[in-house]
Amino acid sequence: MKYVIDHDYHIHSYLTPCAGHPPEQNCENILAYGKRMGMKDLVITDHFWDAQNVVTTEKNWFRRYGYSYIKEILPFPTDEECTFHLGCEADMDLNFNLGVSEKLYDKLEFIIVATSHLHAPGWTVTEEKQTVAERAELYMKRNFKLLDSNMPFHKVGLAHFTCSLIAANCEGSNIDILNHITDKEFKVFFSRVAKVGMGVELNMTVEEANTEEILRPYRIAKECGCKFYLGSDAHSLGEFDDVGERFVTVINALSLTEADKFRPFG
Ligand SMILES: [Zn+2]
Ligand SMILES: [Zn+2]
Repeated sequence: MKYVIDHDYHIHSYLTPCAGHPPEQNCENILAYGKRMGMKDLVITDHFWDAQNVVTTEKNWFRRYGYSYIKEILPFPTDEECTFHLGCEADMDLNFNLGVSEKLYDKLEFIIVATSHLHAPGWTVTEEKQTVAERAELYMKRNFKLLDSNMPFHKVGLAHFTCSLIAANCEGSNIDILNHITDKEFKVFFSRVAKVGMGVELNMTVEEANTEEILRPYRIAKECGCKFYLGSDAHSLGEFDDVGERFVTVINALSLTEADKFRPFG
């Protein structure tokens, strides 16, 4: 059976600072989007750094957004068809510290990790890592460090693996970075992703989902037995407009079936 669009596990609310806190990005409007799309599960994944428990020497503005902040979104509206879950979008600093501690694993229903946030010099990437080769090496090192962690992978997702941020402030594009990583290296990585049982996010634009170089790592992930979830990464209501087209395009491009679905909620 073809992969059904019944969830969005990467949604930001008005609490996320990077979109300017649009008040209309509230749970009522997010629920309306979910119901319009026929979705059953929605995860709010606001940006997050567990500053109480995870020390980073780096300065970044996410440090202010810990658990007590993201849970301000509660209580969620209840609905017979559509269930909200409290998640977060966690970061990794340039010393490979993960911004979420064991103490919070039980409290968070879903954790996406954005190893691909390489847009902050001095925080997630050193100033010198500007060549395509250096950036590709750093990126995969971060991804392997995530796998080396003790995270509860059955409810962890690898956020926007191919997004443009992997090439932020770099001499090339995200496609150049991806092209630099061999099939063999992707195979080693995604075999381990499948083994630990972490989900792989599908988040691409329509154009990206029609680009073979962007699709290559996901094709390899599928061969390795990885499971996939959909994540819009919407920060504002307008960003929900093309989500259906984006999801359909990538599902078709990868010929995904229900057997390929990541199911953190049973
Ligand atoms: Zn992100
Ligand atoms: Zn996000």
